[in-house]
Order: sequence, then C-alpha cells, then structure tokens
Amino acid sequence: MTMPTTREVLIQLDNVGKRFATEDVETHALQNVSLTVDAGEWLAIEGPSGCGKSTLLSILGLLDSPSTGAYRLHGQPVAQLSADDRADARTRKIGFVFQAFNLIADLTVFENVELPLTYRSIGSAERRERVRDALDRVGLGHRGAHYPSQLSGGQQQRAAVARAVAGNPVLLLADEPTGNLDSVNGDAVMSLLAELHRDGATLCMVTHDPKHAMRAERVVRLVDGCVVHER
Ligand code: ADP
Ligand code: MG
Repeated sequence: MTMPTTREVLIQLDNVGKRFATEDVETHALQNVSLTVDAGEWLAIEGPSGCGKSTLLSILGLLDSPSTGAYRLHGQPVAQLSADDRADARTRKIGFVFQAFNLIADLTVFENVELPLTYRSIGSAERRERVRDALDRVGLGHRGAHYPSQLSGGQQQRAAVARAVAGNPVLLLADEPTGNLDSVNGDAVMSLLAELHRDGATLCMVTHDPKHAMRAERVVRLVDGCVVHER
C-alpha cells in the first residue's frame, strides 16, 4: 500500500448530532460534532463512559445515521446513498474491530475472516488467498481451523483484526479494541494496529486507556456528546 503524498480528506463531519428518543427520555448522544480525518491518519477518540464514542464510531462506519448535520466519506454525502449503496460502501470501505471481538462461535477462524468477503463479488480462490494473507499478517496463519473458543482473548481479537482488514478497507474502526484484554495482549493488539497504520490504514480508535491514546497521531476528547478537546 502506498502512502498518500498529498492530503486527502477521508472523513468530514459537519455539525453532526445524534438523538435517541425512547418513550420517556431523549438522549443527545452527539451534538455539533465537526471533525475531519485525512486518509492515512490515526485518530484516537477518548472520553468518559456514555459520552458518545460508540455512537460516533457507528456513524463513521455507516451502521447508524446522524440526526442532524452532514457526513461525507471520500467527498460523498452519505445521506444521499440508498440503503444498498450504504451497505455496499460499508462492506467495501470499512473494517470494524469491537471490544467483545464479535466472532461467530460456530464458524472457524478462517470462516469468520472469510465471511465479510462472501458479501462481495470476490471469487473463492481470491477469497481464500486474502484470508490466508490476513491471518498471516496477524500471526494466526496456523489457527485457521480453530474455533474462537479454542483461542485466547488476544488471539480472538487478532482474528477479529484479520477479519476487519481482509477486505482492504480504506477505514479501520476500532471500539475499545483492548477493553477485554489483559495488558500483554492489549499491547500486542495495539502493536498490530500500529503496524497496519504504518502500512497506510486510516484508523479511528476509541479507547479510554491514555497509554493507547498516546500512540495515535491525534486525540479527540468527547464529553456529553461534544468535542471538548483536540490534540
Ligand atoms: P460511549 O461509547 O462513549 O460509552 P455511547 O455512544 O454508547 O457512549 O452512548 C452515548 C449515549 O447515547 C448514552 O447516554 C447512551 O445511553 C445513549 N445511547 C446509545 N445508543 C442508544 C440507543 N440505541 N438508544 C437509546 N440511547 C442510546
Ligand atoms: Mg462505547
């Protein structure tokens, strides 16, 4: 993968708000969030529990839509995409890593990594090659036939990272990727993310561990749904 030589804006949020209304309460999960992320950047998002970090990541990942404001991905206003085009953009452009790994228990590691590729028109030979490459990349080339329950937490998260990157996404989103890991495994997963970033991945990572946030190039702090600090 080549590094972009000129600045290329990948993500542009303008005054994004997100409101959740249930029967008796209305929550403003995000308010007036304006944020630009360049291709190839590594951004950390931090803030107290409930401040809107996961909501922000879901919007960036096209899993949810803003209530107000605009999101442009690669210059394209996301609100104008049809449901099919959104789903297509999500599978082609975006890779997710979650705190709880979210591997499917009755699929092997190989099948888990392959699954998102099956939603795309990629032939089975190329699919298998991509899965093998991704598993090699995370140091799990020898674990493809295992089931998630046969792996340690750190290995499961590495498998989840392989699943996220096998499709060559332009944007890698990680929501507290080390939250369920001990510090040794957490550091290993962070080193893996750092390596993917060095290879050109754009990475937006939610974390509440300042040690991990420090490794990012830029840190955005959210409080009560608002960006209060950026460095
Ligand atoms: P964080 O990831 O920073 O802990 P979240 O983005 O998960 O925070 O949540 C932000 C706020 O929005 C919280 O008050 C949460 O309860 C609320 N919220 C998130 N998702 C929903 C939902 N689907 N329905 C109602 N409220 C929600
Ligand atoms: Mg969260």
